[in-house]
Amino acid sequence: MWWSIAVIGLLFVLVLVLTVRTALFTKKAAPPQPPKEAEGIDPEEVAAHLAGAVRIPTVSNADPNQVDWTQFQKFHDYLRATYPLIHQTMEREQIAGYNLIYRWPGRDQNAKPIAFLSHQDVVPAADLSQWTYPPFSGYDDGESIWGRGTLDMKNQLIVVMEACERLIAQGYTPREDVYLCFGQNEEVGDLPAGTGADAIAALLQQRGIRFDCVLDEGGTIADGKAMGVDGKVCIVGVAEKGFATYRLEAQSKGGHSSRPPLHTALGKVCRAAAQVEAHPMKPRLIAPVREMFRSIAPYMKAYTLRLMVANLWLFEPLFLKIIGKIPMIGAMVSTTSAVTQAQGSQQDNILPQHAYVAVNCRILPGQTVEEVRQHLQGVIDDPDVTVSVYKSHQVQEISRLDSRAMQTIARLSDRYYPGTVTTPYVMFGGSDARNYYAISDCVYRYMPFYFEIEGQNIGIHQANEHIPKRSLARAVAIFMDFIKEYEGEDHNG
Ligand SMILES: [Zn+2]
Repeated sequence: MWWSIAVIGLLFVLVLVLTVRTALFTKKAAPPQPPKEAEGIDPEEVAAHLAGAVRIPTVSNADPNQVDWTQFQKFHDYLRATYPLIHQTMEREQIAGYNLIYRWPGRDQNAKPIAFLSHQDVVPAADLSQWTYPPFSGYDDGESIWGRGTLDMKNQLIVVMEACERLIAQGYTPREDVYLCFGQNEEVGDLPAGTGADAIAALLQQRGIRFDCVLDEGGTIADGKAMGVDGKVCIVGVAEKGFATYRLEAQSKGGHSSRPPLHTALGKVCRAAAQVEAHPMKPRLIAPVREMFRSIAPYMKAYTLRLMVANLWLFEPLFLKIIGKIPMIGAMVSTTSAVTQAQGSQQDNILPQHAYVAVNCRILPGQTVEEVRQHLQGVIDDPDVTVSVYKSHQVQEISRLDSRAMQTIARLSDRYYPGTVTTPYVMFGGSDARNYYAISDCVYRYMPFYFEIEGQNIGIHQANEHIPKRSLARAVAIFMDFIKEYEGEDHNG
């Protein structure tokens, strides 16, 4: 009898501990409040400047010969004409084509500089019939500016310029040097070396520059509903996933398909692909994702999720199992693999002599391209199928989670969008930002915009990209405050 009492007693204590920990962990979301207006910044003026930038189709292409570089020249002329004070006050350099570096000299040369990144290029408009307004019109419907680049990312480029121009007009000089670095070809993806953000970062590194923080595209202020949170959430990208495409390949004799072997080369690689799908990589919580759940889970409505995050010491495996199955979040806790291409013989009645399937993986920081290759080879478990890396880039760096920049971002997001909870996250796609890890420990993907048009699909790279004008004005205010209030480290600090 005594042991059953002991077990019941222990269970009681456990439940008590879990409940108390959850109760202490839980926070109440701030009641909904209207965003703060950007004082002294006319949304119409900022919007008109963005519209002008959108009208210049700076479309990039993997083949530089396919790019209309005169548009980039026009874009530069436009910046000169629109932001005269910046062009009088800052040093400007144009490198490796149309990449731009501006340096605004600060008043304290002992303070470490900071950098704002943007890319000047946009993706093509694609299917014109999908657009409500022409993609390079910069159409103003009264509420929003429409067109390619309004979200990705002429919006950021313009509000950064706008913030600096206005501060200069006020007679302001920043404490530290402020750099604006605008690449010419981020959208190309696999950049030819030395042609874009990598060229800028390499040049600055050569000069011995180290940034106290770097801000680029990525996270935004968003409605927390998708994360099960009441109120707004500001997500700041502190890392991004690596990228690797593997080829699973097999050879066989070939010949006529009327006398086939038991398994053809294509049959073998298809079986291998099925094995890859059946054995996903184990989920795990890397530091920034753990921190993400610690910051947002207290506000989550679902009690069980709060209970689990408050008691990860007990529930981590179960928690990972559950969230690993949610597509958006699942990709943040594991290296994903997607079978994307296959090739067999040239004709339907010919046996392939060689066949492959391609598997595209997005790799969590902490895991290497080679480790993932070994995982694939292991689960395929077939000596006839080889696994090789077709193309890859590895990203291992994670920005500091406790920096001055993170604190400033959190404070300013909450200032203009009261009640906003700021959290780090891991970006799925790539950005220019990764090139800057060589010259900064604090590289953040943060765009200070909130998209107030609820439920509307205004995604990047899609038709009908558009941005609310008031969101633009607030972003200008946030960047102005950021520059004024940022109190970074000194060179020897
Ligand atoms: Zn972009």
